[in-house]
Amino acid sequence: RAKQAGPGTIRFFETSDDESARERRALLRDLELAVDRDELFLLYQPFFDIRKNRVTGFEALLRWRHPVRGVISPTEFIPIAEETGLIHGIGEWVVRRACSTLSNWPSDLRVAVNFSAAQFHNASILQTIVQALSQARVAPHRLEIEITESMLISKYAPASSILNSLLQLGVTVALDDFGTGYSSLTYLLKLPYTRIKIDQSFIRDMLRRPDSAAIVKSIIALTRDLQIGVVAEGVETAEQLDYLRQTNCDEVQGYLVGRPVAADHVFALLDQNKQWSTSAA
Ligand code: C2E
Ligand code: MG
Ligand code: MG
Ligand code: MG
Repeated sequence: RAKQAGPGTIRFFETSDDESARERRALLRDLELAVDRDELFLLYQPFFDIRKNRVTGFEALLRWRHPVRGVISPTEFIPIAEETGLIHGIGEWVVRRACSTLSNWPSDLRVAVNFSAAQFHNASILQTIVQALSQARVAPHRLEIEITESMLISKYAPASSILNSLLQLGVTVALDDFGTGYSSLTYLLKLPYTRIKIDQSFIRDMLRRPDSAAIVKSIIALTRDLQIGVVAEGVETAEQLDYLRQTNCDEVQGYLVGRPVAADHVFALLDQNKQWSTSAA
């Protein structure tokens, strides 16, 4: 539950008493109440299949509407949630909400949910995910779990048995921010990942830096040989999309095809995209 920070967490903050530590402490106190006060919400950003010319699903991206500070980015509060154990309650809320939202969507769409390594340190995560799926009555293959490559070598390296159980249930797993971690390619062999997401830093640079372009092409070639899917993150221009089409990338994500939107804008976005793809075809 979000209310319970793990034992000993307060001590961490009391060792240093500068301004930023005080600010963190205040943020932590507020974060402890955020789930119960209904201050968290999800935005949904589309995946666009280049060959099929259509939206294939959405990634759920967490936001915190703080009563005083306004909307806070996950990059600011997820690290605090991870250090204090609050991530377990927050993560449970995220996967439940994402699955219940998914249950309203056409059945050929998936939802992708980001997970922190720390969440896999708690064996009950498996049951939480299974329950979220069954309560929302959505097929497991429509849920995708995003884990980062760097997570694979962290001290919380996810129990591969949990990921394996999820894959066996039909849940799909994507490696997020690929290319930015320090992990070895041999990690790819440990589990049958469904998809790799190429980090946006390579996409941003690929049209002006030959080394970034080489990395993008190599990752795509690797996924072809491994027979898994590949998504390019952070696609912002038509030129980048063209290049990714030429290099045989499967899917793109980014401001060009859609910014993250609230759940009640998802259907409008799908309609828009239908028109866009029929006029492009
Ligand atoms: P991520 O999973 O790699 O998500 C991609 C980030 O890039 C998102 O930032 C998204 O809004 C942003 N983005 C998408 N398209 C573009 C683009 O075209 N250009 C640029 N410049 N940025 C783009 P956001 O929403 O701030 O999320 C940041 C990170 O926070 C995520 O990175 C993910 O690691 C983490 N996160 C988000 N939601 C959750 C969650 O529910 N649980 C956990 N554990 N982590 C989360
Ligand atoms: Mg992600
Ligand atoms: Mg990413
Ligand atoms: Mg990221």
